[in-house]
Amino acid sequence: MRARLSFRHGVHPPEHKELTAGVAVRRMPYPDEIILPLRQHTGKPARLLVKVGDRVERGDKIAEADGFVSVPIHASSAGSVRDIGLWPHPDGSMAEAVRITVDRFSPQIPRPRIIPHWEGLTPDQIVKAVQRAGVVGLGGASFPTHVKLLPPDDVTVDTLVVNGAECEPYLTTDHRVMVEYPERVHHGIRIMLHTLGVSRAIIGVERNKPDAIEALDRTLPADLDVTVQGLTVKYPQGYEKMLIRALTRREVPPGKLPMHVGVIVQNVASLACIAEVFETGLPLLERVVTVTGPGLRKPSNLIVPVGSKIRDILGFCGGLADGATEIVFGGPMMGASQPDLDAPVIKSTTGIVVLTRAESRPRRTYPCIRCGHCLDACPVFLNPSLLGVLAQAGRYEEMEEADLATCMLCGCCSYVCPSNIPLSQMFALAKAGLQRRKQQAA
Ligand code: SF4
Ligand code: SF4
Repeated sequence: MRARLSFRHGVHPPEHKELTAGVAVRRMPYPDEIILPLRQHTGKPARLLVKVGDRVERGDKIAEADGFVSVPIHASSAGSVRDIGLWPHPDGSMAEAVRITVDRFSPQIPRPRIIPHWEGLTPDQIVKAVQRAGVVGLGGASFPTHVKLLPPDDVTVDTLVVNGAECEPYLTTDHRVMVEYPERVHHGIRIMLHTLGVSRAIIGVERNKPDAIEALDRTLPADLDVTVQGLTVKYPQGYEKMLIRALTRREVPPGKLPMHVGVIVQNVASLACIAEVFETGLPLLERVVTVTGPGLRKPSNLIVPVGSKIRDILGFCGGLADGATEIVFGGPMMGASQPDLDAPVIKSTTGIVVLTRAESRPRRTYPCIRCGHCLDACPVFLNPSLLGVLAQAGRYEEMEEADLATCMLCGCCSYVCPSNIPLSQMFALAKAGLQRRKQQAA
């Protein structure tokens, strides 16, 4: 193993992973109802196939992909469609969703289905099977996985980079997947290598997960060129560009994708999910979620049906502890605060973190003192101080010239700012504002 594989800049927030790092994954019972938003992935939302009153079995398709950059949604439980309408979405908006009353007496057995043998399929057929199964990136990105598997003809991919970094504080979802299901991760890698026509895979895991590195090493398939590399513990090590640089020394230029430097990146949980699709014939119906934080009585790693509501999951984890003040989906650095306990877990939900006043206290903001800490922290070498000044003035077009598109909203600049300026939040608003202005101008 090479020493100190990492990237330049970044930050070292407290990890807080000890709450759940050693806690085995357990299955949450089916809740009384499931909420399935039609928008759970990047790209066009899925198109509705059911109506109020319909009976659905576990695994039935309730909405179909609307185009290539889209995936279907499947019922994660047997039951009946109670309602279709606007419902709180984890992104803070109200979004169209299907509300299913769970059949408490159902054995939850899916309809008989054909299990596709991937060895006998062409890459195109595998890509279609992955789309049909509704698989998206489970590391939080929610990008439809099949889209990444069809690089254009003028691009040559030679390496599959497997993302097991999980650099967000508190989260141990990928960690437990690697420790408990390493063979499944390797099976997913095997299917991906076959589909992409690539012979080499590198799995990157931060060194704060020695048991995950050991499990993946112990189960390495002898006939594949797969290596497991320990990475320096640093945020945001799990970002595609950082990971590629650390593992391959290749730089993805601004505005380009990993495939332009010969790399496809897949998250470990996504690969385990792909393996499961071809092992069971079932689409993506459930996922591992870390439910944790100082504001929760019983921190856990759970397999939950997609569509389970926050309140049901927290209830299963013993409820809120004294002093709980904020619930965040996805981790404290990049996660989204959840104002509504009825919002559901969607395919991309990696974790639910319950914070107390000590971690989420609103902090007074002061003027910029030009200390430069944000420049030293930014992993993509932007000038967050300048971008912040432009954002405050609403000068979004000038932010674009200052390379706002390269900002990945990682939160490093906000984290180090002694003036408590919410830089990355301002940049997120600026990106949304720019998009709106462009749509209005079109
Ligand atoms: S949020 Fe954007 S500007 Fe701030 S450190 Fe991350 S990439 Fe750089
Ligand atoms: S870290 Fe904050 S105070 Fe320091 S230069 Fe950046 S924006 Fe200004």
